[in-house]
Amino acid sequence: MSDFAGAMRSAFGPERLRSRAPLAPLTTFRVGGPADWLIETRNSDEIERALSIARAASVRVTILGGGSNVLVADSGVRGLVIRPRGGEVRAIDDCRIRADAAVTINGLVRWTINHGRAGLEAWAGTPGTVGGAIFGNAHFAGRPIADVVTGVTLVSPEGAQSEVPASAMAFGYDRSRLQQSGEVLLSADFRVSAGDPAALRAIARQSLAFRKRTLFKMDFAEAVYISELRSGAAGHFSYRNVAYAMYEEVARKHPALAKYFRVTDVREPIDLLKR
Ligand SMILES: Cc1cc2nc3c(=O)[nH]c(=O)nc-3n(C[C@H](O)[C@H](O)[C@H](O)COP(=O)(O)OP(=O)(O)OC[C@H]3O[C@@H](n4cnc5c(N)ncnc54)[C@H](O)[C@@H]3O)c2cc1C
Repeated sequence: MSDFAGAMRSAFGPERLRSRAPLAPLTTFRVGGPADWLIETRNSDEIERALSIARAASVRVTILGGGSNVLVADSGVRGLVIRPRGGEVRAIDDCRIRADAAVTINGLVRWTINHGRAGLEAWAGTPGTVGGAIFGNAHFAGRPIADVVTGVTLVSPEGAQSEVPASAMAFGYDRSRLQQSGEVLLSADFRVSAGDPAALRAIARQSLAFRKRTLFKMDFAEAVYISELRSGAAGHFSYRNVAYAMYEEVARKHPALAKYFRVTDVREPIDLLKR
């Protein structure tokens, strides 16, 4: 292990390899323990260099993208965590662009809109990086990102770099071959077409609006109506809970009004024949 730290420090400089590095601040859920080692790489060459040093020292590697789809255990992560950062987007030709693994999906969307390239604008607001999005085949409004991927550049656990067409990525719902193969994604190529930046920006805004937390007001009659209707046995469990929570909140603030609600208690077993 000390050979590993020495090799990493001589490759990346003495400051960049961090030991016992807290991971919680690097994830959306902000929980969990430290990584034995953490390196934030700046480009694909650095990812490959870190992988190669870890492989030579038999140190386990974990890749952390934007941290929006991981829960880190309180015990932390053993071995080396590589957190790709920075990266760039570039045009391959008129209908394909290449984005490094570390590029955020929002950064990618911004680039395509600014360059008048259509195809990715609906993913505006998706947290995380290109690496994480390909790993889990991120989807929005029923459409997986695999639909617009033409190919990827991977590095295998043995250190071999390869260009892989999308058809060989075993994409499925929330799935890609990366989840089994242990390969690391260096970049992904996306299919794009010419688009008007203003029109693309409007679509991106719609996606952002869909994700935005919204405060809306309703009067008492509306609250009663929604709570009664949507807590009913025929409703989906997710909105039944919301409808019932609305009733409980009104009852807590205005106990005298609670008797006017004819809600269905979501904690009671439901008669499935009423669904
Ligand atoms: C508020 C919120 C909204 C969300 N909305 C959506 C949504 O609309 N659609 C959707 O699909 N998901 C959504 N997600 C889930 C999440 O944003 C996506 O799964 C995202 O693609 C994860 O990317 P990440 O960079 O954060 O990955 P991380 O969480 O960092 O990592 C996820 C996995 O990918 C692996 N990984 C990351 N980079 C690489 C790489 N370069 N090579 C190999 N493996 C890698 C990691 O090892 C890990 O196993 C949402 C999450 C949140 C918190």
